[in-house]
Amino acid sequence: MLDMNWIRENEELVRNTAVWKRVEFPLDELLAWDDKRRLLRRETEQHRAERNGLTKEVERLLRQGEAAAGEQAKEQVRKLNSRLAVLEADLAEADRHCGELQLLAPNPVSADTPIGRDDSENVELRRTGTLPEFSFAPRDHVELGELHGILDIPRGVKAGGPRSYVLKNAGLYLHLAVQRLALDVLAERGFTAMDVPVIVRPEALERTGFFPGGKDQTYELNGENRWLAGTSEVSLVSLYSDEIVELDEPMRLAGMSACFRREVGSAGRDVRGLYRVHQFSKIEQVVLCKNDPETSEQMLQEILGNAEHILQLLELPYRIVAVCSGDMSLKTHKQYDVETWMPSRDAFGETHSASNLHDFQARRSNIRYRDEHGRLQYCHTLNNTAVATPRILIPLLENHQQEDGSIYIPAALRKYMNGLERLEVPQ
Ligand code: AMP
Repeated sequence: MLDMNWIRENEELVRNTAVWKRVEFPLDELLAWDDKRRLLRRETEQHRAERNGLTKEVERLLRQGEAAAGEQAKEQVRKLNSRLAVLEADLAEADRHCGELQLLAPNPVSADTPIGRDDSENVELRRTGTLPEFSFAPRDHVELGELHGILDIPRGVKAGGPRSYVLKNAGLYLHLAVQRLALDVLAERGFTAMDVPVIVRPEALERTGFFPGGKDQTYELNGENRWLAGTSEVSLVSLYSDEIVELDEPMRLAGMSACFRREVGSAGRDVRGLYRVHQFSKIEQVVLCKNDPETSEQMLQEILGNAEHILQLLELPYRIVAVCSGDMSLKTHKQYDVETWMPSRDAFGETHSASNLHDFQARRSNIRYRDEHGRLQYCHTLNNTAVATPRILIPLLENHQQEDGSIYIPAALRKYMNGLERLEVPQ
C-alpha cells in the first residue's frame, strides 16, 4: 500500500506506474474521495471543538444557576451531536472508500526496471552453465518419469483432476531431496527454517498484497472464510503483522510449504507434465530489513545469489532476467526471474522469482521497527524461491539423462538420496 500523502505528491508517477504495469487504478476516484475525507475531517473536528466548548458552557451556566440559558445551550449541544453523528458516518464511508482504492495502487518500479508489456520484453542479464548437447534423442521428463516408474500423471489426474500428478519412489525422494538441500543451504546462510500455515485468513492475503487482485487465482475453503495460500510468503510475512520487530540484522526466513494455485487464465498452456500444476511444494526465502533502498537492494542480490547457488549445486544451466514492468505484480518494486534450461521446451523456463517490495507489504501488514533515532519505520520485505518442486524436476531429469536412460544425480543431492549416484532404468 502506498501512503496517501505520497500518492498526492507523486500523482504523475503513480499514473505512469499503472500504465507501465498495465493495471487499472482509479486514481481520480481515490483523489476525489480523499478530498471529501479531508473536508469531512476538518468539519468533524470543528464541530467536536464547538460541542466540547458548549458542553463546558452548559456546566458553567448550570453551576451559576442560569437555568434558562443552560437549557438553551444544551439544545445546541444536542443539535451539534446529531450533526456530528452524520459527519462521522460520512467520514467512515470516505475512509472505507479510500482504504479500498488505496489497496489497488501499484508500487512504483525501480529506476533499472525495463518498461515493457509482458514477459517477451524481459531482459536477459546473464547465463551460467553449459547447455547439454545430446548425441541421442533425449526424452522429456514425462517419458523419463514413466521409464523409471517415478511419475504417474494419469493416476494423479484420476484422483486430483487435470494438472495433478503422482511422484513415486525415487521421484518422491528427489522431490524431498531438492527441498532438503535448499533448506540446508539457507540454514547455513543464516535463515530460520519454518513450516507455516497454508490455510490462511483473507486478511493475510490482503495485507501481503495478493488480494484483492489475486482472488480468482486462490482456492477458497467453502464456508470457512479461509483460503489456501499459493506461497508461504503469505504466512511468513503475516507472522509479523502489527508487530514492531528488531532489525539490526535483516530477518531471514525460509518457509517450507505446499502451494496451491488455480491457474485461472492458463487454460491450454503448459498442459504436459509437471510444469504448471495446481499443487506443488516450495522452499521460499523471505527477508525483512530496514527501510533503506541500498540495504534491500543488497538483500535482493543475496536471495538471488542463494537461488543461483542451489542451481549450481544441482549442476543446472540457467539465466537471470530482469522482469519488465508489464510482467510484474502490483506489489513488486524490482524483480529478477531465474530461468533454468528445460531441454524438452528447447528453452529456459521460470523456476525462481526474486522480488524487492520495498515497504509496500509492510505498510499493509503494519510491520515496523525503530530506526537509529528511535522513530518507527515500515520495513522493506523481499522474497525469492529457493526451490519449487516438481517444476525443478523437469530440468533435473532432462538435463541429467544419459543415453541408456539412466539419470545422473548431482553430487550435492546424493546425501539426501542414500548416496545414490545414478538412477538406473529398472529392468
Ligand atoms: P511465484 O511465487 O509465482 O513467483 O512462483 C515461484 C515459483 O514457483 C516459480 O518460479 C515456479 O518454479 C513455481 N511455480 C509457480 N506456479 C507453479 C505451478 N502452477 N506449477 C508448478 N510450479 C509453479
